[in-house]
Amino acid sequence: MSIKENIENIKKRIKEAAERSGRNEEDIVLIGVTKTVDTDIMKEAIKFGIDNIGENRVQEMKKKYEDISENLNWHMIGHLQSNKVKYIIDKVSLIHSLDRMSLAKELEKRAEQHNITVNSLIQVNIAEEESKFGLKGEEVIPFIENILKFERINIKGLMTIAPFDENPENVRYVFRQLKGLAKDIEAKGYSKIEMKYLSMGMTNDFEVAIEEGSNMVRIGTGIFGKRTY
Ligand SMILES: *Cc1c(COP(=O)(O)O)cnc(C)c1O
Repeated sequence: MSIKENIENIKKRIKEAAERSGRNEEDIVLIGVTKTVDTDIMKEAIKFGIDNIGENRVQEMKKKYEDISENLNWHMIGHLQSNKVKYIIDKVSLIHSLDRMSLAKELEKRAEQHNITVNSLIQVNIAEEESKFGLKGEEVIPFIENILKFERINIKGLMTIAPFDENPENVRYVFRQLKGLAKDIEAKGYSKIEMKYLSMGMTNDFEVAIEEGSNMVRIGTGIFGKRTY
């Protein structure tokens, strides 16, 4: 399968899943996850309409950002070390992995230096997997209350990574719980905190995630094929 066909296939499945949940394909942001993918292959995907790019490593994102001149939205979807914030703060459209106070402090500091604001999602480890980053569900509201004071951080929603399961039905509860948490946060009515995006769903489980309310899916393998590390 070519990149073009892969993208068409994913888009068709996004559309169908969106319709099953009473929405349109335009309501769902498709992020092409390009970690380990060469820039010439990325350019192929960009040509076929991918304009949201997800990377999980700072150095790789920075290099590709400099190599690719197209106007794209860059998403930092991986764990973000505080000492690397300075390399991407002025490049990234959305950080998906805000999960601790020390990172929030660094984001605020660097955003202030550039006189910008930074858009971020809070990463939640719904399934409480040891191997994954993210706050526990019950930690999210206290965390939000602690970062309300940061004027340069715009919280735009939540992100989660579901455990891998051959049958994505088995992780439906993860997506449902993240959506429930977003509703609880909305009900608090914090002024500056918006639950605009739910970043959930990857190649293996994005249809179930969309059915449960995702409006931002992160697709790597489904577009670019299996990664060879
Ligand atoms: C790699 C990665 C993805 C994409 O995974 P695929 O299964 O290849 O679609 C999505 N989200 C995060 C956080 C990732 O690290």
